[in-house]
Amino acid sequence: MSDVLVVGGGPAGMAAALAAHRHGARVVLLEAGDDVGGQFWRHRGTGADEGVWHHGWDRFLALRSGLTRVEVVTNAHVWKLDRRDDAPPVVHVLVGEPDGQGRESRTYAPETLILATGAFERTLPFPGWDLPGVYTAGAAQALAKGERVAVGARVLVAGAGPFLLPVVSSLLRIGAGVAGVVEAAGPAQLARGWAARPWRLLAARHKTAELAGYVRELATHRVPYRTGAAVVAAHGTDRVEAVTVARLSADWAPVPGTERRIAADAVCVSHGFVPRTELAVAAGCVTGPDGSVTVDDRQRTSVPGVLTAGELTGIGGADLALAEGEIAGTVAAGGVPGPAAVRQRAVFREFAARMAAAHGIRPGWQAWLDDSTVVCRCEDVTAGALRHAVAVTGSRGLRSLKLTTRAGLGLCQGRTCGRTVEDLVPGLLDPGRTDRRPIALPLRLGELATSNREDVP
Ligand SMILES: Cc1cc2nc3c(=O)[nH]c(=O)nc-3n(C[C@H](O)[C@H](O)[C@H](O)COP(=O)(O)OP(=O)(O)OC[C@H]3O[C@@H](n4cnc5c(N)ncnc54)[C@H](O)[C@@H]3O)c2cc1C
Repeated sequence: MSDVLVVGGGPAGMAAALAAHRHGARVVLLEAGDDVGGQFWRHRGTGADEGVWHHGWDRFLALRSGLTRVEVVTNAHVWKLDRRDDAPPVVHVLVGEPDGQGRESRTYAPETLILATGAFERTLPFPGWDLPGVYTAGAAQALAKGERVAVGARVLVAGAGPFLLPVVSSLLRIGAGVAGVVEAAGPAQLARGWAARPWRLLAARHKTAELAGYVRELATHRVPYRTGAAVVAAHGTDRVEAVTVARLSADWAPVPGTERRIAADAVCVSHGFVPRTELAVAAGCVTGPDGSVTVDDRQRTSVPGVLTAGELTGIGGADLALAEGEIAGTVAAGGVPGPAAVRQRAVFREFAARMAAAHGIRPGWQAWLDDSTVVCRCEDVTAGALRHAVAVTGSRGLRSLKLTTRAGLGLCQGRTCGRTVEDLVPGLLDPGRTDRRPIALPLRLGELATSNREDVP
């Protein structure tokens, strides 16, 4: 019986663990949260009312009940991988509440490792985005879905991508007032992604039905939806009181003279997602130009015995994550992927490519920054300080800029600002370097000191 270790209990990891088990492997699934489900099925129980908050809830319940036959370790934080010559890396884990004392240290030396660690949100900075009352859309959604807490009474949702719509839906469901949705992509960019060969979208028709549901909700609540515009500043003294919204050019540069002030007590912003690759990078997996992990048609990475699935291989949504997870789990256990999963992966890869074309970030956004806009919030580094360091030192290397400015050296280790810093340095020599984090998660010095290497078989 082969040994398969899965890291990440979102849609991709759940599907991978179950498929590997079904094909006869002995499976352990490690998940940092206190339940499986990941970002898509972020829930606070499995009560009868929970289903109204989530698409595909029945699928989640089926996967979760299937996982009772697999060893699932929750609150399991994988913080380091040690490479081996002829085998997948050794996986170091701390088990317990992230802020708790006495977390248990464990190590695994699997025959096959499946990484399914998902994605981070990408948020483009703007003047005033560090005011209280400005949230990432994901944080607002987590508070709504997970805690039933509304981030404000008059909320503006802004950024790019279809993800803005479920966020609005969650806000409306908990009774927040939504002042409007502002999508940065203009009609031409949206058409480039979604209008080409529309019949091919039929294969993903339940996504169209989801979209129709959101449109109905917006109409019922009279929430205005504007395209080709962005929040270019937030205003307030102790917290957000208003935002400036401006029309954007096709390249996302604000069009002068189109600014409009809108009252809001909260702003939720999201400009897409970035694959969460630190473990894959630590394992030595090759990544592509967009930072996602490169895989073959069997979800195998460049490192023998390491497979990946879900957002880690490219941002594509839960359906793609489920298909890739099914294929990765099957292959990890020595099986042959079924045609249904392979077909579903092809359909949703095309869907992902359309999404990237329709909502992908355009470089003109940098024009809405001013020199005092904070870029790295952990270390309080402004856009001006970063540009000054580039001009004065002539440096084009992220490592040296990090050491000069401290951007990316704080608690989040560049998860929030990394891609932004990369965008702001013209002619950057080492893009993607902000994903290199030898220690993947925050841990105490005491835990580091007692992490027992001798446990490694
Ligand atoms: C904040 C946020 C909100 C989102 N909300 C939606 C939504 O409402 N609708 C939608 O269609 N899409 C949403 N998405 C996109 C969503 O990520 C995908 O559609 C889907 O969840 C991808 O599945 P996945 O399994 O690849 O990743 P995820 O669902 O992100 O699962 C990855 C899992 O890996 C775990 N993990 C990561 N690192 C470690 C580690 N070091 N140790 C142990 N465990 C680890 C995480 O805790 C997580 O549970 C959201 C994404 C984000 C980032």
